[in-house]
Amino acid sequence: HLWRERLPRHHHRWPNPRRGRMSSIPATIREDFPTLTQEINGHPLVYFDNAATTQKPRPVLEAIQRYYEHDNANVHRGIHELSNRATAAYEGARHRVAQFINAPSAKDIIFTRGTTEALNLVAATWGAGNLREGDVILLTEMEHHSNLVPWQLLAQRTGAQLRFIPVTGDFGELDLSDLDERLSDVKLLSLTHISNALGTINPVTELCAKAKAVGAVTLVDAAQSAGHLPLDVQALGCDFLAFSGHKLCGPTGIGALFARAELQAAMPPYQGGGEMISTVGFQTSEYHEPPHKFEAGTPNIAGAVGLHAAMDYLDALGSEAIHAHDTDIAAYAKERLAEFDGIRIFGPAGERGGLVSFVFEKVHALDLATMADQQGVAIRIGHHCTQPLHEKLGVPATARASFYFYNTRAEVDRFIEVLQKVIQLLK
Ligand code: PMP
Repeated sequence: HLWRERLPRHHHRWPNPRRGRMSSIPATIREDFPTLTQEINGHPLVYFDNAATTQKPRPVLEAIQRYYEHDNANVHRGIHELSNRATAAYEGARHRVAQFINAPSAKDIIFTRGTTEALNLVAATWGAGNLREGDVILLTEMEHHSNLVPWQLLAQRTGAQLRFIPVTGDFGELDLSDLDERLSDVKLLSLTHISNALGTINPVTELCAKAKAVGAVTLVDAAQSAGHLPLDVQALGCDFLAFSGHKLCGPTGIGALFARAELQAAMPPYQGGGEMISTVGFQTSEYHEPPHKFEAGTPNIAGAVGLHAAMDYLDALGSEAIHAHDTDIAAYAKERLAEFDGIRIFGPAGERGGLVSFVFEKVHALDLATMADQQGVAIRIGHHCTQPLHEKLGVPATARASFYFYNTRAEVDRFIEVLQKVIQLLK
């Protein structure tokens, strides 16, 4: 990969004047991202919508192009060379994902369209097979809709109940004070690792251990943490973990579910069709061994290839370095935003993931985002698929700036300048 050859030569550290921390992400990293070099409305793009999706570096784009130009065929089917290559690429990506999250085996990895499908898969298979009336599914009040609605649907079908770990009064963290009571009769604990609305990094290792102690199965929504901090499913001690490739420099339409082998063995199929069966009769069929049993139809082979390239790219940077950079930019952004009068900043007081959500008392979030866009700054506004949480926050919508390793403090400064200008205008 070109950029890797470049890394040692251009590698340099830039000082971080405010907190004295150094980032080990080279400033030249931005050259790997074609989208980042453009102007929007005559201004250099400041892309602060990374929690929604990240930009893609050249090695990922090239890997996808190379796959389609040289190896394209269907998997697990042909005896011919191209099919063998496509199968090797697809299964190689499964091994890469297992390695990326330290899963014991590639068999523990089920490819999905993303986090949403991974969560729905658990609800439709493990959930439908194991939950009965009166069983409790424990979630948190800061879940994304994709870790809420599938459980609502399952609860309606099975008679299971939903219970929630609340957020603290300052809306910064989970309130774990009554956790032991909340864990009674719990069969499944499913929670987000990093909140996409607040930036809170939840103590998932501790929570999984407590849930396991009462015999519950655990699921971690790693949509905002995979590719942002070191992720090790064995250290987390979770049974399931879901994430999306597009939020970690990979393509859209591919993600993965880690599912512990013992649980997979007892799970009914998800969808029926080709690839997931071993023998089919007119009345009944036999299924492939997991994980193939859960992957019906032609999979997203090129997506898996792109995801593999993204994981190589991220690992060369190092997850510790990415996390340090993310949290540094978020802390700096929070500090600069706090300079404004009439602003309410959400999330934890201490360390947070790479995002900051906020509202201005007197400025509508939609006006803010629209005018920021006119200046080339991309932020997101709305409830960020956490409507019940926003109800608790008492605001219908927040503005959210979310960061990744290619963002800089200089971009935060530009963002603040733009906000100052916009607020002046709207006043
Ligand atoms: N969970 C969280 C915490 C998220 O931030 C997101 C994406 N915003 C999702 C789940 C859903 O991910 P996807 O849309 O890629 O399936």
